[in-house]
Amino acid sequence: MKKIVSLFASIALGAAIVSSPAFAADKGTVGIAMPTKSSARWIDDGNNIVKQLKAAGYDTDLQYGEDDIPNQLSQIENMVTKGVKVLVIAPIDGTTLSDALKQAHDAGIKVISYDRLIRDSANVDYYATFDNYKVGVLQADSIVDKLGLKDGKGPFNIELFGGSPDDNNAYFFYNGAMSVLKPYIDSKKLVIRSGQMGMDKIGTLRWDPATAQARMDNLLSAYYTDAKLNAVLSPNDDLAIGIISSLKGVGYGTKDMPMPVITGQDATIPGVKAILAGDQYSTIFKDTRELAKVTVNMVNALMEGKTPEVNDTKTYNNGVKVVPSYLLTPVLVTKKNAIKVLVDSGYYKADQLK
Ligand code: BGC
Repeated sequence: MKKIVSLFASIALGAAIVSSPAFAADKGTVGIAMPTKSSARWIDDGNNIVKQLKAAGYDTDLQYGEDDIPNQLSQIENMVTKGVKVLVIAPIDGTTLSDALKQAHDAGIKVISYDRLIRDSANVDYYATFDNYKVGVLQADSIVDKLGLKDGKGPFNIELFGGSPDDNNAYFFYNGAMSVLKPYIDSKKLVIRSGQMGMDKIGTLRWDPATAQARMDNLLSAYYTDAKLNAVLSPNDDLAIGIISSLKGVGYGTKDMPMPVITGQDATIPGVKAILAGDQYSTIFKDTRELAKVTVNMVNALMEGKTPEVNDTKTYNNGVKVVPSYLLTPVLVTKKNAIKVLVDSGYYKADQLK
C-alpha cells in the first residue's frame, strides 16, 4: 500500500513538474525584434513582452536593431536559423523584410507584426497595434480644443511634423490628424505659413529628433521672424523634444512668447515632464503592457493551433494582404489627467515624473 501511495505521489509530482511554468521553457523560443533603444517606448515594449512571455513559459530572444535596417534583418535571420517558434517584429523599415519572412514562413515560423505594420509580404500572420488613425485624431483634437477653434477663435499659425516615411504608422497618424485639421486649414482658421503639408514634405526620417529640431529652426527663421507660431503638430514625444528646444532657442516659453500648443505621443518620461512643465501640451498614452498582453495572447493561440483574437480585418492592407489586427485604444493625456492616467494606473511611479 505504501508503495502504491508513493507511486501515486511521484506520478502527481511528475505531472506538477510538467505543468509548472518554471519547467515550461520547452514551449520554445519567441524571437522579438525591436527597432531601437534610442526611444524609451521600445525599451518598455521589449521588457513587457519578455516579462509576459516568460511568465507564460516561453524562452525569449530580444534584439534591438538600433535603427539600422541590415542589422535588424540579420537579427531576424539569426532567429529563423535558431529555430524560434514565433517572431514578433516591430520593423525599422516596414518594407525590407520580405526575404527573411519567406524563410521564416518556409520553416513554419509564425510572424506577428508588432505596433508597426510589416509591408509588402504575404508572410505576416497577425498585427498587434493601437488604433493609429485615432492617435492622429486625438493629437489634432487637442490642438483644436486648446486653441478654441470650435468657439470660432483664430486664425492661428500652425506647422506640421510627420513621422518616418518608412513607418506605415506615420501615414495613419498624419491622416488621422488631417481629418480634423483640414477643415480649419481650408477655412484659414489655421494657417501654415511655410505651406508645407503632406508626408513627403513634413516626414522625419527615422523619427530623428535632431532632424525635427533642424527643420523647426529653418521654419522659424524663414517664416516666423515677424509672426508667432501658435501650434505644432508633433507626431511623438521624441520629436516634440527637438521642436521645443528649437523654439526655446528663439525665445518661446516666456510670458510674452508662450510656447505653441505642441502635441506628442507615447507618454515618455521626458514627454510627460515637458507637459507638467508647460512646454508641451499633450501626448498620447499607448499602454505597452496591454500591447504586450495582446501579443502574448496571439503567441499562445498560434502555439496551440488556435486562431488569435482580432478586432479589425479591414484597415491594415500591407500591399499584399489585409493583415488581421488587434487594435488597442490610445488615450489623450494633458496636464489635467497625466497623474491619473499614468501614475494611478501604475505605469509610472510618481517620482519618475519629478
Ligand atoms: C510608434 C510610435 C513611436 C514611433 C517612433 C511608431 O511606429 O507607433 O509610438 O513614437 O514609432 O519610435
